[in-house]
Amino acid sequence: MVLYVGVDVGGTKVLAGEVTRAGVVLRTARRTTPGRRVSVESVEDALTAAVLDVAGGRRIAGVGLAAAGFVDAAGERVMFAPHLPWAGEPVRERLSRRWGAPVALDNDANCAAVAESAYGAARGASSALVVTLGTGIGGSYVLGGEVVRGAQGMAGEFGHMRLVPDGRACECGMAGCWEQYCSGNALVRLARKQMAVEPTVLTEMCDGRPDRLTGPMVTAAAESGDLVARQAYAAVGDWLGIGLGALTSALDPEVVVVGGGVSAAGDRLLDPARVALARSLVGAAHRQPPRLVAARLGPEAGIVGAALLARAARWSGSARAALAGRSAVPATRVAAERGDYRAGVRGPRRRRPGRGARGSW
Ligand SMILES: [Zn+2]
Repeated sequence: MVLYVGVDVGGTKVLAGEVTRAGVVLRTARRTTPGRRVSVESVEDALTAAVLDVAGGRRIAGVGLAAAGFVDAAGERVMFAPHLPWAGEPVRERLSRRWGAPVALDNDANCAAVAESAYGAARGASSALVVTLGTGIGGSYVLGGEVVRGAQGMAGEFGHMRLVPDGRACECGMAGCWEQYCSGNALVRLARKQMAVEPTVLTEMCDGRPDRLTGPMVTAAAESGDLVARQAYAAVGDWLGIGLGALTSALDPEVVVVGGGVSAAGDRLLDPARVALARSLVGAAHRQPPRLVAARLGPEAGIVGAALLARAARWSGSARAALAGRSAVPATRVAAERGDYRAGVRGPRRRRPGRGARGSW
């Protein structure tokens, strides 16, 4: 079988996986992300070790990289990554030379969106807004199967839309950004604040140490009926709907997919978001709000999408051109290849982690 590997280069870990044409992850390998204050080579060594682990001596047909950072519009360089030493590095070319295989590179949120569009919750939709709630907000807008990247590749930074003038200070240097109110961090902050004034199981869960409270704890507490945790989810869900209302006014997507650790709570998060979204839509009496659904691919969405980009690049030399139908090879050939992915009968294998088991955000 032709071997394609997807690699998710995150802030804390590197996850590599063999991904089939139908989007099924067959085997994975992981390494710890070396950090930001290290050499570029040591990050490349970690990626190489994970990729070689997955390959197990077999020839690699292509590797897709999903990087947590800004990737230029051409898919050649990582311009900036908060947890990695990459700053304008020509990552695609360097690793392609080192591995002797074609490499495709994109931002992790874009890769996850590509995967949800091809195999997951947005499959078959003509336009999809994919939002990932982790420590912050990741996002991507997919139109006609193509990620909308913007002129410099920096579209989709929805988390830094300013929703509250003079609001909470954000790590980005601005204030009132959406992710300050709607994210794993916001959820934990809300629960922590309320712990001080209301009895809650969260106090016991974090051994009376609010600084040890995590997102998965709040998710588990909400599931067990804890009011403080449920109120925190309701507030974050409300902000989710408000932000999605603004995005829907701008983009009018067919479907909105919400993923990330916070989305493990399912309708507990999405129901208040649906109400707030419908309320904040312009022309609400004369339109349907977009379908608002939970992501289906889980934490492996990044590697599935990255591998799909690598597979598409095989035909065109450019994953992006292939997905956009602008490739140098006949369009029918690319379409056939794409059709194959989409026609995959089996969905991606999903290891359903238990609630609250998606790690810390
Ligand atoms: Zn911000």
